[in-house]
Amino acid sequence: MPDTPLAVGPGDSAEFMYERGVVLARDGEEACLVEDTVRMHFTEAVDLSAEYVYRASPASNRSGITRIQVGDPLDGDWRSDRAVAGALRALREAEGRAGRRLVSRNHVVSIAPVNAGPGYEPVPAPLSQGTNPAPAEDRYNSDSAVGVLVIDNGLTHDYQFAPLLAHVRGYPHTSETDSEGNLLQYIGHGTFIAGLLAAVAGNTDITVHNTLNDVGAVLEDQFGQRLFDVIDRHGWPDIISLSAGTSNGRADGLLGVEAFMQELRLQRTLLVAAAGDNASATPYWPAAYASLPDFENVVLSVGALRSDGEYGACFSNHGSWVKAYAPGERLTSTLTGFYAAAPYVYQRSTPDACPFGFTYLCNCQHPRHTSARSVADSSTAKADQVMFEGYAHWSGTSFATPVAAGMIAAHMTAYKESAARIAVEQLLASNTEFAEVRGAHRPALLPPTWRPLPVIQL
Ligand SMILES: [Zn+2]
Repeated sequence: MPDTPLAVGPGDSAEFMYERGVVLARDGEEACLVEDTVRMHFTEAVDLSAEYVYRASPASNRSGITRIQVGDPLDGDWRSDRAVAGALRALREAEGRAGRRLVSRNHVVSIAPVNAGPGYEPVPAPLSQGTNPAPAEDRYNSDSAVGVLVIDNGLTHDYQFAPLLAHVRGYPHTSETDSEGNLLQYIGHGTFIAGLLAAVAGNTDITVHNTLNDVGAVLEDQFGQRLFDVIDRHGWPDIISLSAGTSNGRADGLLGVEAFMQELRLQRTLLVAAAGDNASATPYWPAAYASLPDFENVVLSVGALRSDGEYGACFSNHGSWVKAYAPGERLTSTLTGFYAAAPYVYQRSTPDACPFGFTYLCNCQHPRHTSARSVADSSTAKADQVMFEGYAHWSGTSFATPVAAGMIAAHMTAYKESAARIAVEQLLASNTEFAEVRGAHRPALLPPTWRPLPVIQL
Protein backbone atom coordinates (compact mmCIF):
# COMPACT_ATOMS: atom_id res chain seq x y z
CA MET A 1 0.00 0.00 0.00
CA PRO A 2 2.45 2.64 -1.18
CA ASP A 3 0.04 5.59 -0.76
CA THR A 4 -0.95 4.91 2.85
CA PRO A 5 1.29 6.27 5.65
CA LEU A 6 1.76 3.37 8.10
CA ALA A 7 3.20 2.81 11.56
CA VAL A 8 4.08 -0.39 13.44
CA GLY A 9 3.03 -1.38 16.94
CA PRO A 10 2.44 -2.01 19.69
CA GLY A 11 5.57 -0.36 21.03
CA ASP A 12 8.72 -2.02 19.72
CA SER A 13 7.18 -5.47 19.30
CA ALA A 14 6.17 -4.66 15.70
CA GLU A 15 3.49 -7.32 15.66
CA PHE A 16 1.13 -5.30 13.51
CA MET A 17 1.02 -2.37 11.11
CA TYR A 18 -1.65 0.34 11.05
CA GLU A 19 -2.71 3.44 9.18
CA ARG A 20 -1.44 6.73 10.63
CA GLY A 21 -3.89 9.48 11.53
CA VAL A 22 -7.05 7.32 11.49
CA VAL A 23 -9.09 5.26 13.97
CA LEU A 24 -12.15 3.07 13.44
CA ALA A 25 -15.48 3.04 15.27
CA ARG A 26 -18.85 1.36 14.71
CA ASP A 27 -21.20 3.39 12.49
CA GLY A 28 -23.87 5.62 13.98
CA GLU A 29 -24.04 6.73 17.59
CA GLU A 30 -20.75 5.16 18.59
CA ALA A 31 -18.89 6.97 15.78
CA CYS A 32 -20.38 10.28 16.99
CA LEU A 33 -19.37 9.52 20.57
CA VAL A 34 -15.82 8.63 19.51
CA GLU A 35 -15.50 11.77 17.37
CA ASP A 36 -16.80 14.06 20.13
CA THR A 37 -14.72 12.40 22.86
CA VAL A 38 -11.51 12.57 20.84
CA ARG A 39 -12.10 16.20 19.87
CA MET A 40 -12.75 17.17 23.49
CA HIS A 41 -9.67 15.29 24.70
CA PHE A 42 -7.46 16.82 22.00
CA THR A 43 -8.77 20.33 22.74
CA GLU A 44 -7.71 19.86 26.36
CA ALA A 45 -4.37 18.24 25.44
CA VAL A 46 -1.90 20.98 24.62
CA ASP A 47 0.18 18.85 22.24
CA LEU A 48 -2.59 17.25 20.15
CA SER A 49 -4.62 19.09 17.56
CA ALA A 50 -8.43 18.84 17.45
CA GLU A 51 -8.52 20.46 14.02
CA TYR A 52 -8.06 17.15 12.19
CA VAL A 53 -10.79 15.24 14.03
CA TYR A 54 -13.67 14.44 11.68
CA ARG A 55 -15.45 11.45 10.23
CA ALA A 56 -13.59 10.49 7.06
CA SER A 57 -16.21 8.11 5.69
CA PRO A 58 -20.01 8.05 5.82
CA ALA A 59 -21.91 5.13 7.29
CA SER A 60 -22.45 3.38 3.97
CA ASN A 61 -20.17 0.39 4.38
CA ARG A 62 -21.56 -3.05 5.27
CA SER A 63 -18.59 -3.69 7.52
CA GLY A 64 -20.42 -1.29 9.87
CA ILE A 65 -17.27 0.73 10.39
CA THR A 66 -16.59 4.46 10.19
CA ARG A 67 -13.10 5.88 9.68
CA ILE A 68 -12.39 8.84 11.92
CA GLN A 69 -9.50 11.10 11.05
CA VAL A 70 -7.66 12.09 14.23
CA GLY A 71 -4.40 13.53 12.98
CA ASP A 72 -2.31 14.56 10.01
CA PRO A 73 -1.12 11.24 8.54
CA LEU A 74 2.10 12.92 7.44
CA ASP A 75 3.00 13.71 11.06
CA GLY A 76 5.18 11.24 12.90
CA ASP A 77 6.91 8.23 11.37
CA TRP A 78 6.59 4.45 11.08
CA ARG A 79 7.47 3.93 14.75
CA SER A 80 4.54 5.75 16.30
CA ASP A 81 1.47 7.83 15.78
CA ARG A 82 0.72 10.10 18.74
CA ALA A 83 -2.70 11.16 17.47
CA VAL A 84 -3.92 7.56 17.17
CA ALA A 85 -2.44 6.69 20.58
CA GLY A 86 -4.12 9.81 22.04
CA ALA A 87 -7.49 8.84 20.52
CA LEU A 88 -7.32 5.32 21.97
CA ARG A 89 -6.44 6.84 25.36
CA ALA A 90 -9.31 9.35 25.14
CA LEU A 91 -11.88 6.56 24.84
CA ARG A 92 -10.64 4.38 27.70
CA GLU A 93 -13.07 5.72 30.27
CA ALA A 94 -16.06 5.50 27.92
CA GLU A 95 -15.07 1.93 27.01
CA GLY A 96 -14.99 1.04 30.70
CA ARG A 97 -18.53 2.36 31.07
CA ALA A 98 -19.78 0.63 27.91
CA GLY A 99 -18.09 -2.66 28.84
CA ARG A 100 -16.71 -3.07 25.33
CA ARG A 101 -14.25 -1.57 22.91
CA LEU A 102 -15.44 1.52 21.02
CA VAL A 103 -12.37 2.44 19.00
CA SER A 104 -9.58 0.66 17.14
CA ARG A 105 -6.52 1.38 15.05
CA ASN A 106 -6.97 0.69 11.32
CA HIS A 107 -4.68 -2.34 11.04
CA VAL A 108 -3.13 -3.81 7.90
CA VAL A 109 -4.55 -7.29 7.23
CA SER A 110 -1.87 -9.19 5.31
CA ILE A 111 -0.58 -12.58 4.21
CA ALA A 112 2.86 -12.09 5.78
CA PRO A 113 4.17 -10.83 9.13
CA VAL A 114 5.37 -7.23 9.54
CA ASN A 115 9.00 -8.35 9.68
CA ALA A 116 8.79 -11.01 6.97
CA GLY A 117 12.23 -12.60 6.67
CA PRO A 118 13.74 -14.60 3.80
CA GLY A 119 11.83 -17.70 4.87
CA TYR A 120 8.73 -16.10 3.34
CA GLU A 121 10.10 -16.16 -0.19
CA PRO A 122 9.51 -19.19 -2.43
CA VAL A 123 12.31 -21.47 -3.63
CA PRO A 124 12.23 -23.25 -7.06
CA ALA A 125 11.39 -26.96 -6.96
CA PRO A 126 11.84 -29.45 -9.84
CA LEU A 127 8.65 -30.66 -11.55
CA SER A 128 10.09 -34.20 -11.54
CA GLN A 129 9.83 -34.46 -7.73
CA GLY A 130 6.10 -33.71 -7.73
CA THR A 131 4.22 -31.82 -5.08
CA ASN A 132 4.28 -32.40 -1.33
CA PRO A 133 1.55 -33.23 -0.33
CA ALA A 134 1.23 -35.40 -3.44
CA PRO A 135 -2.16 -35.53 -5.22
CA ALA A 136 -4.62 -37.71 -3.29
CA GLU A 137 -6.61 -40.38 -5.10
CA ASP A 138 -10.11 -39.03 -4.62
CA ARG A 139 -11.56 -38.18 -8.03
CA TYR A 140 -13.34 -35.01 -9.02
CA ASN A 141 -17.12 -35.33 -9.21
CA SER A 142 -18.98 -32.17 -10.17
CA ASP A 143 -22.11 -33.33 -8.28
CA SER A 144 -20.40 -33.79 -4.93
CA ALA A 145 -17.33 -31.52 -5.15
CA VAL A 146 -16.73 -29.47 -2.01
CA GLY A 147 -16.77 -25.72 -2.69
CA VAL A 148 -13.68 -23.96 -1.34
CA LEU A 149 -13.26 -20.20 -1.64
CA VAL A 150 -9.67 -18.99 -1.24
CA ILE A 151 -9.47 -15.33 -0.22
CA ASP A 152 -5.95 -14.32 -1.20
CA ASN A 153 -3.96 -12.36 -3.79
CA GLY A 154 -5.09 -14.10 -7.00
CA LEU A 155 -3.74 -16.62 -9.52
CA THR A 156 -0.70 -16.53 -11.81
CA HIS A 157 -1.49 -16.08 -15.53
CA ASP A 158 -0.28 -19.58 -16.46
CA TYR A 159 -1.87 -21.61 -13.66
CA GLN A 160 -4.08 -23.53 -16.10
CA PHE A 161 -0.98 -25.27 -17.49
CA ALA A 162 -0.74 -27.20 -14.21
CA PRO A 163 -2.89 -30.38 -14.52
CA LEU A 164 -3.31 -30.35 -10.71
CA LEU A 165 -5.26 -27.07 -11.00
CA ALA A 166 -7.84 -28.35 -13.50
CA HIS A 167 -10.74 -27.54 -11.16
CA VAL A 168 -9.41 -24.20 -9.98
CA ARG A 169 -10.79 -20.92 -11.24
CA GLY A 170 -10.51 -17.38 -10.06
CA TYR A 171 -9.01 -13.99 -10.59
CA PRO A 172 -5.53 -13.18 -11.93
CA HIS A 173 -2.91 -10.95 -10.37
CA THR A 174 -3.09 -7.45 -11.84
CA SER A 175 0.68 -7.31 -12.33
CA GLU A 176 3.17 -10.11 -11.83
CA THR A 177 6.53 -8.60 -12.73
CA ASP A 178 8.65 -5.49 -12.19
CA SER A 179 10.11 -3.35 -15.01
CA GLU A 180 12.95 -5.88 -15.45
CA GLY A 181 10.64 -8.84 -15.79
CA ASN A 182 11.30 -10.32 -12.34
CA LEU A 183 8.38 -11.70 -10.35
CA LEU A 184 7.14 -9.37 -7.63
CA GLN A 185 7.20 -10.57 -4.02
CA TYR A 186 4.21 -12.77 -3.02
CA ILE A 187 3.13 -13.38 -6.63
CA GLY A 188 1.93 -16.97 -6.76
CA HIS A 189 0.78 -17.08 -3.12
CA GLY A 190 -2.82 -17.86 -4.13
CA THR A 191 -1.71 -20.35 -6.80
CA PHE A 192 0.48 -22.17 -4.26
CA ILE A 193 -2.52 -22.42 -1.89
CA ALA A 194 -4.78 -23.71 -4.70
CA GLY A 195 -2.22 -26.44 -5.47
CA LEU A 196 -2.11 -27.59 -1.85
CA LEU A 197 -5.92 -27.74 -1.64
CA ALA A 198 -6.20 -29.60 -4.96
CA ALA A 199 -3.51 -32.10 -3.88
CA VAL A 200 -5.01 -32.89 -0.46
CA ALA A 201 -8.64 -32.95 -1.68
CA GLY A 202 -9.19 -33.89 -5.35
CA ASN A 203 -12.97 -33.57 -5.16
CA THR A 204 -13.06 -29.79 -4.75
CA ASP A 205 -14.25 -26.79 -6.70
CA ILE A 206 -11.67 -24.15 -5.81
CA THR A 207 -12.14 -20.44 -6.45
CA VAL A 208 -9.21 -18.11 -5.75
CA HIS A 209 -10.04 -14.47 -5.18
CA ASN A 210 -7.63 -11.54 -5.42
CA THR A 211 -9.29 -9.70 -2.53
CA LEU A 212 -5.94 -8.89 -0.89
CA ASN A 213 -4.35 -7.22 -3.92
CA ASP A 214 -1.14 -8.53 -5.46
CA VAL A 215 0.97 -7.66 -2.41
CA GLY A 216 -1.43 -9.56 -0.16
CA ALA A 217 -2.50 -6.69 2.09
CA VAL A 218 -5.55 -4.52 2.70
CA LEU A 219 -6.57 -2.09 5.44
CA GLU A 220 -8.91 -3.42 8.14
CA ASP A 221 -11.71 -0.94 7.30
CA GLN A 222 -11.83 -2.27 3.70
CA PHE A 223 -11.35 -5.92 4.58
CA GLY A 224 -14.83 -6.49 6.04
CA GLN A 225 -16.51 -4.89 3.04
CA ARG A 226 -14.40 -6.95 0.61
CA LEU A 227 -15.36 -10.17 2.36
CA PHE A 228 -19.02 -9.26 1.88
CA ASP A 229 -18.32 -8.40 -1.78
CA VAL A 230 -16.74 -11.81 -2.44
CA ILE A 231 -19.74 -13.59 -0.88
CA ASP A 232 -22.13 -11.44 -2.93
CA ARG A 233 -20.44 -12.69 -6.07
CA HIS A 234 -19.96 -16.36 -5.19
CA GLY A 235 -22.44 -17.14 -2.42
CA TRP A 236 -21.46 -18.86 0.83
CA PRO A 237 -19.12 -21.77 0.02
CA ASP A 238 -18.65 -24.95 2.10
CA ILE A 239 -15.23 -23.73 3.22
CA ILE A 240 -13.37 -20.40 3.14
CA SER A 241 -9.58 -20.77 3.27
CA LEU A 242 -8.06 -17.51 4.52
CA SER A 243 -4.30 -17.08 4.88
CA ALA A 244 -4.27 -13.49 6.10
CA GLY A 245 -4.87 -11.53 9.26
CA THR A 246 -3.41 -9.28 11.91
CA SER A 247 -2.99 -9.14 15.64
CA ASN A 248 -4.33 -6.06 17.43
CA GLY A 249 -3.17 -6.59 21.00
CA ARG A 250 -6.67 -7.64 22.07
CA ALA A 251 -8.51 -10.86 22.85
CA ASP A 252 -12.04 -9.83 21.79
CA GLY A 253 -11.91 -9.72 17.99
CA LEU A 254 -11.14 -7.37 15.11
CA LEU A 255 -13.53 -4.45 14.72
CA GLY A 256 -13.29 -4.34 10.91
CA VAL A 257 -14.61 -7.90 10.47
CA GLU A 258 -17.10 -7.90 13.35
CA ALA A 259 -20.16 -7.54 11.08
CA PHE A 260 -18.88 -10.18 8.64
CA MET A 261 -18.15 -12.64 11.44
CA GLN A 262 -21.65 -12.21 12.88
CA GLU A 263 -23.11 -12.91 9.42
CA LEU A 264 -20.82 -15.92 8.96
CA ARG A 265 -22.14 -17.43 12.21
CA LEU A 266 -25.64 -17.60 10.74
CA GLN A 267 -24.45 -19.47 7.64
CA ARG A 268 -23.15 -23.02 7.11
CA THR A 269 -19.65 -22.05 5.89
CA LEU A 270 -16.55 -23.08 7.83
CA LEU A 271 -13.76 -20.48 7.96
CA VAL A 272 -10.29 -22.04 8.07
CA ALA A 273 -7.82 -19.28 8.94
CA ALA A 274 -4.05 -18.94 9.35
CA ALA A 275 -2.72 -18.42 12.89
CA GLY A 276 0.00 -16.08 11.64
CA ASP A 277 3.79 -16.13 11.49
CA ASN A 278 4.98 -13.85 14.31
CA ALA A 279 6.20 -16.73 16.54
CA SER A 280 3.84 -15.17 19.08
CA ALA A 281 1.03 -16.23 21.42
CA THR A 282 -0.84 -12.94 20.83
CA PRO A 283 -4.25 -13.68 19.23
CA TYR A 284 -4.22 -13.15 15.47
CA TRP A 285 -7.48 -12.33 13.70
CA PRO A 286 -9.74 -13.63 12.19
CA ALA A 287 -8.12 -17.00 13.16
CA ALA A 288 -8.46 -16.35 16.91
CA TYR A 289 -12.27 -16.13 16.60
CA ALA A 290 -11.95 -19.94 16.91
CA SER A 291 -11.47 -19.44 20.66
CA LEU A 292 -14.46 -17.13 21.19
CA PRO A 293 -17.56 -18.97 22.52
CA ASP A 294 -19.85 -18.14 19.59
CA PHE A 295 -17.41 -19.40 16.96
CA GLU A 296 -16.58 -22.97 17.96
CA ASN A 297 -16.81 -25.08 14.75
CA VAL A 298 -17.44 -21.86 12.79
CA VAL A 299 -13.72 -21.02 12.62
CA LEU A 300 -10.70 -23.34 12.64
CA SER A 301 -7.38 -21.61 13.43
CA VAL A 302 -4.35 -23.36 11.94
CA GLY A 303 -0.70 -23.18 13.03
CA ALA A 304 2.27 -24.63 11.13
CA LEU A 305 4.40 -27.70 11.84
CA ARG A 306 8.03 -27.95 10.79
CA SER A 307 8.99 -30.26 7.93
CA ASP A 308 9.14 -33.49 10.00
CA GLY A 309 5.65 -32.89 11.43
CA GLU A 310 6.84 -33.59 14.98
CA TYR A 311 7.09 -30.03 16.33
CA GLY A 312 5.73 -26.56 15.69
CA ALA A 313 7.56 -24.50 13.05
CA CYS A 314 9.77 -21.72 14.46
CA PHE A 315 7.63 -18.93 12.99
CA SER A 316 4.18 -20.29 13.86
CA ASN A 317 1.95 -18.39 16.22
CA HIS A 318 0.72 -20.61 19.05
CA GLY A 319 -1.40 -20.60 22.19
CA SER A 320 -4.73 -22.08 23.20
CA TRP A 321 -6.50 -20.06 20.50
CA VAL A 322 -4.70 -22.13 17.79
CA LYS A 323 -6.96 -25.17 17.46
CA ALA A 324 -4.95 -27.39 15.09
CA TYR A 325 -1.58 -27.60 13.35
CA ALA A 326 -0.73 -28.85 9.86
CA PRO A 327 2.52 -29.17 7.88
CA GLY A 328 3.65 -25.68 6.91
CA GLU A 329 7.38 -25.77 6.34
CA ARG A 330 8.96 -26.51 2.91
CA LEU A 331 5.77 -27.67 1.28
CA THR A 332 5.92 -28.12 -2.51
CA SER A 333 3.13 -26.77 -4.69
CA THR A 334 2.27 -24.90 -7.88
CA LEU A 335 3.58 -21.36 -8.50
CA THR A 336 4.32 -20.14 -12.05
CA GLY A 337 6.71 -20.65 -14.98
CA PHE A 338 4.90 -23.72 -16.36
CA TYR A 339 5.69 -22.92 -20.01
CA ALA A 340 8.21 -20.07 -19.75
CA ALA A 341 10.56 -19.89 -16.76
CA ALA A 342 9.86 -16.91 -14.49
CA PRO A 343 12.83 -15.13 -12.87
CA TYR A 344 12.78 -13.92 -9.25
CA VAL A 345 15.32 -11.90 -7.25
CA TYR A 346 15.40 -12.44 -3.47
CA GLN A 347 14.27 -9.49 -1.34
CA ARG A 348 15.94 -10.59 1.92
CA SER A 349 19.28 -12.19 2.77
CA THR A 350 19.41 -15.29 4.92
CA PRO A 351 20.33 -14.47 8.56
CA ASP A 352 23.06 -16.40 10.39
CA ALA A 353 20.60 -17.66 12.99
CA CYS A 354 16.84 -18.17 13.26
CA PRO A 355 15.38 -14.80 14.36
CA PHE A 356 13.03 -16.75 16.66
CA GLY A 357 15.91 -18.53 18.43
CA PHE A 358 15.23 -22.07 17.16
CA THR A 359 18.17 -24.45 16.79
CA TYR A 360 17.05 -26.68 13.92
CA LEU A 361 17.80 -25.82 10.29
CA CYS A 362 14.53 -23.95 9.76
CA ASN A 363 13.21 -22.23 6.65
CA CYS A 364 14.56 -18.87 7.95
CA GLN A 365 18.12 -20.12 7.45
CA HIS A 366 17.90 -22.58 4.58
CA PRO A 367 18.35 -22.49 1.65
CA ARG A 368 20.66 -19.48 1.78
CA HIS A 369 20.26 -16.51 -0.52
CA THR A 370 21.56 -12.96 -0.92
CA SER A 371 19.09 -10.14 -1.43
CA ALA A 372 19.03 -7.24 -3.84
CA ARG A 373 18.82 -4.89 -0.86
CA SER A 374 22.09 -6.07 0.75
CA VAL A 375 23.82 -5.98 -2.64
CA ALA A 376 23.06 -2.25 -2.91
CA ASP A 377 25.44 -1.72 0.05
CA SER A 378 28.22 -3.85 -1.37
CA SER A 379 30.35 -3.64 -4.51
CA THR A 380 31.25 -7.36 -4.66
CA ALA A 381 28.07 -9.25 -3.82
CA LYS A 382 25.47 -10.21 -6.41
CA ALA A 383 21.79 -10.72 -5.69
CA ASP A 384 20.57 -14.27 -6.12
CA GLN A 385 18.27 -14.66 -9.07
CA VAL A 386 16.38 -17.91 -9.48
CA MET A 387 14.05 -19.29 -12.15
CA PHE A 388 10.68 -20.82 -11.42
CA GLU A 389 9.59 -23.60 -13.79
CA GLY A 390 6.26 -24.51 -12.23
CA TYR A 391 6.71 -25.74 -8.67
CA ALA A 392 8.12 -24.08 -5.55
CA HIS A 393 8.92 -24.88 -1.92
CA TRP A 394 7.35 -22.37 0.45
CA SER A 395 6.66 -22.04 4.19
CA GLY A 396 4.13 -20.32 6.43
CA THR A 397 0.89 -20.78 8.34
CA SER A 398 -0.50 -19.40 5.04
CA PHE A 399 0.11 -22.86 3.61
CA ALA A 400 -0.67 -25.02 6.67
CA THR A 401 -4.17 -23.47 6.40
CA PRO A 402 -5.15 -24.87 2.95
CA VAL A 403 -3.62 -28.23 3.96
CA ALA A 404 -6.03 -28.33 6.92
CA ALA A 405 -8.92 -27.04 4.78
CA GLY A 406 -8.14 -29.77 2.23
CA MET A 407 -8.26 -32.44 4.93
CA ILE A 408 -11.71 -31.25 5.98
CA ALA A 409 -12.89 -31.31 2.34
CA ALA A 410 -11.42 -34.81 1.85
CA HIS A 411 -13.23 -35.96 5.02
CA MET A 412 -16.51 -34.55 3.65
CA THR A 413 -16.06 -36.56 0.44
CA ALA A 414 -14.95 -39.77 2.16
CA TYR A 415 -17.82 -39.77 4.68
CA LYS A 416 -20.46 -38.13 2.43
CA GLU A 417 -20.77 -35.37 5.03
CA SER A 418 -22.17 -32.22 3.43
CA ALA A 419 -21.66 -29.90 6.43
CA ALA A 420 -18.10 -28.61 6.84
CA ARG A 421 -18.75 -27.58 10.46
CA ILE A 422 -19.73 -31.16 11.35
CA ALA A 423 -16.81 -32.54 9.30
CA VAL A 424 -14.25 -30.46 11.22
CA GLU A 425 -15.69 -31.66 14.52
CA GLN A 426 -15.53 -35.30 13.35
CA LEU A 427 -12.03 -34.90 11.94
CA LEU A 428 -10.63 -33.42 15.16
CA ALA A 429 -12.47 -35.98 17.34
CA SER A 430 -11.12 -38.95 15.35
CA ASN A 431 -7.61 -37.53 14.86
CA THR A 432 -4.88 -39.45 16.65
CA GLU A 433 -1.84 -37.43 15.58
CA PHE A 434 -0.26 -34.88 17.90
CA ALA A 435 2.75 -32.59 17.69
CA GLU A 436 4.71 -30.74 20.33
CA VAL A 437 4.28 -26.97 20.07
CA ARG A 438 6.14 -24.89 22.67
CA GLY A 439 5.92 -27.73 25.20
CA ALA A 440 2.22 -28.50 24.63
CA HIS A 441 0.72 -31.48 22.77
CA ARG A 442 -1.52 -30.15 20.05
CA PRO A 443 -3.69 -31.85 17.36
CA ALA A 444 -1.73 -32.40 14.13
CA LEU A 445 -3.60 -32.77 10.84
CA LEU A 446 -1.27 -34.77 8.56
CA PRO A 447 -2.55 -35.56 5.05
CA PRO A 448 -1.91 -39.19 3.99
CA THR A 449 -0.05 -38.04 0.86
CA TRP A 450 2.23 -35.62 2.73
CA ARG A 451 5.86 -36.79 3.03
CA PRO A 452 7.73 -35.67 6.18
CA LEU A 453 11.27 -34.41 5.60
CA PRO A 454 14.07 -35.00 8.09
CA VAL A 455 15.11 -32.06 10.25
CA ILE A 456 18.75 -31.15 10.85
CA GLN A 457 19.58 -30.04 14.39
CA LEU A 458 22.22 -27.30 14.57
ZN1 LIG B 1 13.46 -20.03 12.05
